[in-house]
Amino acid sequence: MPVPVHVALLNGYAPRWTDALVSGIADALSVPVEAFPVELDTVVAFAPGRRQYHATLLLAALLRHRRDPAAKILGLTSMDLFIPVLTFVFGQSQLDGPGAIVSTHRLHSEYYGLPPDEGRLVDRAIKEAVHELGHAFGFVHCPEADCVMRASTYVEEVDLKASEFCSRCTRSLEEAGRR
Ligand SMILES: [Zn+2]
Ligand SMILES: [Zn+2]
Repeated sequence: MPVPVHVALLNGYAPRWTDALVSGIADALSVPVEAFPVELDTVVAFAPGRRQYHATLLLAALLRHRRDPAAKILGLTSMDLFIPVLTFVFGQSQLDGPGAIVSTHRLHSEYYGLPPDEGRLVDRAIKEAVHELGHAFGFVHCPEADCVMRASTYVEEVDLKASEFCSRCTRSLEEAGRR
C-alpha cells in the first residue's frame, strides 16, 4: 500500500501549475498525490530582522494540520524560508518524518533579475518537492549528478539535477516497498 502524499497549499498560495506539481510528485514517487488549501498561523515563524520565515517552525505548525497520519504532507509556500545556520533554504523536512515544506520564493527566475519562466519554475518546484519528500521517505543525500536526492544550495544546482531518483536510489525505494 503506497503512502499517499498530501500537498498543502499554504495560506492562499495556489499556483496555476499546481496540477503539474501533483503529477510530477506522483510520477517520481509512484504514490497517490492530492492538493488542498491549509491556513497556518505564520506569526510565530516570522523573523522580523531577516524578513523571512523559520522553516522548522513553519513545518511544525504544518504538521499540526495533517488530515491523515498515514500520509506524508508537503507544504507549498512562496514565503522566503530560512533556518538559523543558513541564509535561506529552498525547503525543509525530517528524515523518515511525516512531512516537508518547500518554498518557491527563490525558484522564480525573477528573483535573480531574469524574465519570468514558468516552465523552469515548475521544473524546479517539482525537483525540490520530490527532494524534500524523498527525505521524509527516508532518503539521505545522493552523490549521483542526475539524482533528485543530490543536495542543491543554489538554483543552478537545482537546474542541473534530474527530477527523478537515480538507479541506486530507485532500487532502495523498491526494496523498501515504497513503490
Ligand atoms: Zn536535502
Ligand atoms: Zn540517487
